[in-house]
Amino acid sequence: MDKKKWIVPVSGLALAACTGEVQERPNIIYVFPDQFRNQSLAFWNDEEYAEHVRWKADPVRSPNLDRFADEAVVLSRAVSTCPLSSPYRGMFLTGMYPERSGVTLNCMALRPESTLNPDAICISDVFAANGYSCGYIGKLHAETPMKNDPANPGHYVSDRNPEWDAYTPPERRHGFSYWYSYGTYDVHKDPHYWDTEGVRHDPHEYSVKHETDKAIEFLRNGNGERKEGAPFFLALAYNPPHSPYEKAEDCMPEDYAIYGDMGYSELYVRPNADTTLSKAPAARYYFANVTGVDREFGRLLDELERLGLDRNTIVVFTSDHGETMCSQGTLDPKNSIYTESFNVPFMIRYPEKIRHRVDSTMLSTTDIMPTMLALAGLEDEIPESAQGRNLASVLLEDGKECDIPDAALYIRNVDGEKDGNGIIHGFFPVARGVKTDRYSMEIAIGRDTTISRVLIFDDWNDPYQLENIPYKDNPELFAALCGKLEEKLEEADDVWHREGFMEKLGTPTGKNDQ
Ligand code: CA
Repeated sequence: MDKKKWIVPVSGLALAACTGEVQERPNIIYVFPDQFRNQSLAFWNDEEYAEHVRWKADPVRSPNLDRFADEAVVLSRAVSTCPLSSPYRGMFLTGMYPERSGVTLNCMALRPESTLNPDAICISDVFAANGYSCGYIGKLHAETPMKNDPANPGHYVSDRNPEWDAYTPPERRHGFSYWYSYGTYDVHKDPHYWDTEGVRHDPHEYSVKHETDKAIEFLRNGNGERKEGAPFFLALAYNPPHSPYEKAEDCMPEDYAIYGDMGYSELYVRPNADTTLSKAPAARYYFANVTGVDREFGRLLDELERLGLDRNTIVVFTSDHGETMCSQGTLDPKNSIYTESFNVPFMIRYPEKIRHRVDSTMLSTTDIMPTMLALAGLEDEIPESAQGRNLASVLLEDGKECDIPDAALYIRNVDGEKDGNGIIHGFFPVARGVKTDRYSMEIAIGRDTTISRVLIFDDWNDPYQLENIPYKDNPELFAALCGKLEEKLEEADDVWHREGFMEKLGTPTGKNDQ
């Protein structure tokens, strides 16, 4: 089936922009806290937004993000294709699916093969090659830990076994000339970072506040953080509201105070949540960190405005994946096709270029790199290696032809074989799935390549995914979804496509044009 081509209507704003004087390239600030689910944004309960989704928002306070949403295009159905930290980061940076970015599993020392391909062309490589100053602040988690501690050569950066945290040396920073980052480390009020020169910093304060301070320093450019007069691309990767979310030290007291006295019936508004799970108290700390991120994000926006940089700066707020938080009876916060894990916030503000609205385009993680480059006017510089779509015309409404996705691929991998030393080789592609306009489907398999589980949800009539539609009793629906999945697997050149998994599983070949 040919991909549908659509002509995007031309907006008055875009036309006005065409008649103005030539503008310098926009700056870009890409903010992505870890594990921040789309449902934890208060504005979704406001009338203008609520009509675009079928679920209720969490009882959170997010006034700065609410204000930002009112100035942005807000995507209601953006997804994290492989909703796990490291694979997301590999995909965001390269525009490639995990098999090609190199990051197929969460990075740690026992999985040395899951690491960002050093030869991959990253979004920052392209920006840097086109005159941008690029900065990275916060959690990277896209590389296997190496024995390269700058303060203790020949050793990992800590004595944790296995090591998860990592130091990224200059030759692996992909065009980022300003660096203030770490691999992965989950102590929100005692974080650490390695700077551009490889010097470690232990600021002993809330990481979200500290990283925002560093981002503000980058904006002010008082110490040559970036090239004066050049446009910049800044990635800001907060760790909260990621776990831990168990105790007072995991968040700021002023934020906890908002939620501390709330009972489960108030905290949990989703009918698919099981508050008898051991994790149930976590919601208070999770929401507190949502509010902490909101406050610091607001402080960043205020500084951007104070410096007069807001007019020519594209600001994105998104996350690497969501958080189930007791929904679907699982203790695993992510790595599933459930809406709470798979759907992510995605808002872009680009003053005078992008009109505020809610948009239902199904943006996938691989689409981010080509889309961001094109928004900056670098459409011709999108590397051939990028597998995602350039959706800039959808966002700009500039009238150019654009290949709007009618479905999104879902990927879940688990460890491959372990050798005698505990080292994991390769990965096993345990589940693939697809989200369409109305349905979500996941097919999970065993190591013997037989179906172990199929999930099908009618996301329109059953937004909390309470009823799994039995695939054997609904052969036409199953066939149509399998056809769409196969199409997406082929587009991604996924191992399921290359090795003919759908055929081996005996799924309906389904490539009927319905
Ligand atoms: Ca993550």
